Order: sequence, then C-alpha cells, then structure tokens
Amino acid sequence: MGKALLVGGVVLLSTVDYPDYIASVIFLQGCGWHCKYCHNRHLQPIALSHSLPWEDILELLKSRRGFVDAVVFSGGEPLIQDALPDAITEVKNMGFLIGLHTAGAVPAMLAKVAPMTDWIGFDVKNDFKDYELITGVPNSGKTALESLKLLVALNVNFEVRITMYESLDTSVIVDLLKELSSIGVKTVALQKCRNAEEIVIEHPIFSDKILLEDISKYFENFFIR
Ligand code: SF4
Repeated sequence: MGKALLVGGVVLLSTVDYPDYIASVIFLQGCGWHCKYCHNRHLQPIALSHSLPWEDILELLKSRRGFVDAVVFSGGEPLIQDALPDAITEVKNMGFLIGLHTAGAVPAMLAKVAPMTDWIGFDVKNDFKDYELITGVPNSGKTALESLKLLVALNVNFEVRITMYESLDTSVIVDLLKELSSIGVKTVALQKCRNAEEIVIEHPIFSDKILLEDISKYFENFFIR
C-alpha cells in the first residue's frame, strides 16, 4: 500500500467519538476483517478512486480549530494504512488531541502509533479463541490479544469496547471480562448492538443488574452505552 492516507469520509463534529471532548472523526478506508455487525461495510474495501484528498481534510480541520478539541482516526481499520503515523503527526502538530478507533489488526503499527495518541477506543469482539466466528478471519483473536497486551504494556490511555452482539453467550462474556481484568485493562464499555435501522438488539446481559454490578467491580471504569 502506498503512502497516501485513504479516507472514506469525515464527520466534522461529534460528541460521542472521544470521551468528554468534541471531536472530528476521519474514517479511513480498508479493513481485512468482516464482522457481522459492521456499520461501516462500505469502508472495508480499499477504493483509491473514492478517497478524499488528505490536503483537503487538513484544510477542513484547520477551519475547526477552536471549535473541536480532538481528531479521531477511525475506520475501517486505521492500522492497515502505512501513512497513518505521518498523518497523526500532522494533525497533532495542529494542536488537536489524537484519538484512534481500532480492533488491533496490525500490532506492529499499533506499537508505532499508540504512543502518539491521547486516547484509544479498542474493539474487542469475542473470546479471543473464537474471534473468527465474528470476524471471519482465522487467528484474528491472537492478533487482537497481542495488540491489547501491547496497549497495557505501553500504559497508554485506552478503553475496551465490546459490542454485545445477540449471539454472544453471557457466560463467555463474563469469562472474557475476567480475562481483560487479569490482563490489566482498566476501562471497559459494553455497547448495545444496533441493526442497520439503528434499532437496539437488546442482549440479555443488560437486564441482569446484579451481574452488571458484579462485573463493574473488575474495572476502574465500566460503562454501558
Ligand atoms: S474490524 Fe471494525 S471496520 Fe473491520 S469489519 Fe469489524 S467492525 Fe467493521
């Protein structure tokens, strides 16, 4: 892949993509995984002809200085793009906080960019040994776990998010949360799964208040959204 950052879209004002700050979000093209509930399927393939010019995006961001605190690199999977570190440096030099949404698909790139970020939202999909059931990609769980351990070792500011897809078994999720806690993850959010019409598909775990109370004790910060 070349060095141009391939961008599929931009949201200039978001209150939900970076905790406690107003952010602009840059959606990068490309993801090698195929999650069943992916809301950005149109970004999975790389489509050079549909990329928005990076220079234009920098101009847009310049015009948002003073209104927006952070810029979040999202996707797709931002880690598959070789141009990511340089793009982060450019945006950071403009004075923005840097956020990253990732599922950890490329640990070597994560090792490079994580120390450049101010906050990372890290998607965990399933019990690491059964990742393929969600992503459709063999060994994706091993890769994700490697990336997650890296974030803990680097001591960067990050949150784990788990989308509560309806077929995820509650006992599997509880074991996964225990594993995350034992690895050293401090912040976890369980996210309600929404279908293509943005209607929430309620997972049974959300009606078990006693279990949720118990789970919350594993972490310094525990959110449901
Ligand atoms: S890792 Fe993210 S962008 Fe890639 S298919 Fe899964 S949900 Fe979609």
